[in-house]
Amino acid sequence: ILNVRNLEKSYSSGSKKLKVLQDINFEVEEQKTFAIVGPSGSGKTTLLGLCAGLDRPDSGSINLCGSELSTLGEDKRALLRNKHIGFVFQDFQLLPTLTALENVAVPLELQGNKDASKIGKELLTKVGLGDRIHHYPSQLSGGEQQRVALARAFSTRPSVLFADEPTGNLDTETGEKVEQLLFDLNKEAGTTLIIVTHDLELAEKTQHILRLKGGRIVENQVKHV
Ligand code: ATP
Repeated sequence: ILNVRNLEKSYSSGSKKLKVLQDINFEVEEQKTFAIVGPSGSGKTTLLGLCAGLDRPDSGSINLCGSELSTLGEDKRALLRNKHIGFVFQDFQLLPTLTALENVAVPLELQGNKDASKIGKELLTKVGLGDRIHHYPSQLSGGEQQRVALARAFSTRPSVLFADEPTGNLDTETGEKVEQLLFDLNKEAGTTLIIVTHDLELAEKTQHILRLKGGRIVENQVKHV
């Protein structure tokens, strides 16, 4: 479902160019669970953003769900994202003027789903926020906002879910709940999970681990489970 070849990405800061990713080659099969791990600053979030079509590489190819992202313009990448992809960002990106329930239900409403509100309530209850559905993001803690973002990402049952540190802000109990939801989504809806994480226990539960160091792949381990 994802095929990355000879990917390179640099950022410029002032006159300097910082190479953040080089020689990146890997493939993720449909319906699998995949984790990107590595030290802080190794390029994990950058790689996730490129694979999800949020940004374009300097060179190399990224094929996601049959489309070559590196040659698509922003409009077409956005269409592809709406059709196939769910995201959970590190900064949640909830809409501040909408309640928790509206944040989850609106993407479904936009797809013409008449049960948007009902599904939204169910999902928020599943992530332990059944009593917070009418709160605005500013009235929720970081961990609660993260769970709203997860519920929103799950709501459309995407082909691929990209998640940046999905359990990063959560206490152990809530983290485990969220983890279970992610794996349930993979099993029940066949959603391919692509997760960036520092949590090695979570990474070990996935079927494929990619380890980055200094912008290069140092390990590409596919487990046969
Ligand atoms: P962490 O685990 O701390 O989130 P990471 O492995 O996800 O780190 P990235 O966020 O991908 O790493 O960053 C890789 C490198 O690129 C870092 O050195 C970072 O400072 C740099 N970087 C990231 N985004 C930008 C940007 N927009 N402009 C310039 N440099 C950037």
